[in-house]
Amino acid sequence: MGRMDNQRHDLLTVVVACFNEADSLPLLHPRIRRALDGLEGVASRILYVDDGSRDATWQRLQEIAAADPEVALLRLSRNFGKEIALTAGLDQVTEGAAMILDADGQDPPELIPEFVARWREGYDDVYGTRVAREGDSWLRRGTAAAFYRVIGRLSHTPVPADTGDYRLLSPRVLAALRQLRERHRFMKGLFGWVGYRRVALPYRRGARVAGRSKFGLWRLWNFALEGITSFSTAPLRIATYLGLLTALVAFFAGIVVVFKTLVWGDRVAGWPTMMVVILFLGGVQLIALGTIGEYLGRLYEEAKQRPLYLVDAWHAPAGVSSAPQ
Ligand code: UDP
Ligand code: MG
Repeated sequence: MGRMDNQRHDLLTVVVACFNEADSLPLLHPRIRRALDGLEGVASRILYVDDGSRDATWQRLQEIAAADPEVALLRLSRNFGKEIALTAGLDQVTEGAAMILDADGQDPPELIPEFVARWREGYDDVYGTRVAREGDSWLRRGTAAAFYRVIGRLSHTPVPADTGDYRLLSPRVLAALRQLRERHRFMKGLFGWVGYRRVALPYRRGARVAGRSKFGLWRLWNFALEGITSFSTAPLRIATYLGLLTALVAFFAGIVVVFKTLVWGDRVAGWPTMMVVILFLGGVQLIALGTIGEYLGRLYEEAKQRPLYLVDAWHAPAGVSSAPQ
């Protein structure tokens, strides 16, 4: 039985998106280095993507690359957000597998050998699933749980709960991802869309080693909207059903009103009821319009066909001299 893969099992690139991580990187790099040195039979590289940082991240990265010949660097022209920074990094991995890590040490590099072991067993998408979220507040945990429940119900693409971007992707998954060029990139959904053989790897998610989270509640809320609108059209359907339901209720209410007028006459009462109905319907209409607008706006963004990101600077490891594609 043949499988559609021409996979190299001997090359791994660790991809790290960094945005204002000058304090964590010097702590993180030695840990990644140690984990990779412990791997047997797998050559490895590390690719740091500087997502338009405004602190000393790029300097720190250059120092790291000067001391470590297996480090490649990519700097984007501005801050594009984590999803795009990861896309830019993964685009560069044209050989072997890729391992995605956060720059803040929340995804322990010490587990890389376990990810690689699953890859060698034949899995294509080995994703880390959090059994504990030590660095997160109860609010963050609660909203995350609610989000996974909603997206699990609405989306036809599997998005495993409590799973982030901490994962290993096989060469054929990377090749597939390169074909998905949508601008609104909800990576967890894209990974799920690709499919192939997937396996979860449970881990304890610790707190950041330095600095603070870039994802406040407002950004997370927008991230959740992104996820839902990118992978489900259910909100549009909900708007339709809401409309149908209101029309049905209005129809029966109309019958009652006509009946009452015929039997008891019209005494011009019911002004409060009318206001309530008008306000309610106005609200429902605005919500439905807004929902359509969300999708329309995304369609507009896609239609512009802009490049996903622009590269400002590039540092290739010794022996590799190709410019980013
Ligand atoms: N990140 C990025 N671009 C951004 C925001 C974040 O590349 O615009 C990176 C950040 O440097 C880190 C990862 O994405 O490596 C996760 O960010 P963070 O730790 O702030 O998120 P959290 O862990 O709180 O979800
Ligand atoms: Mg973090």
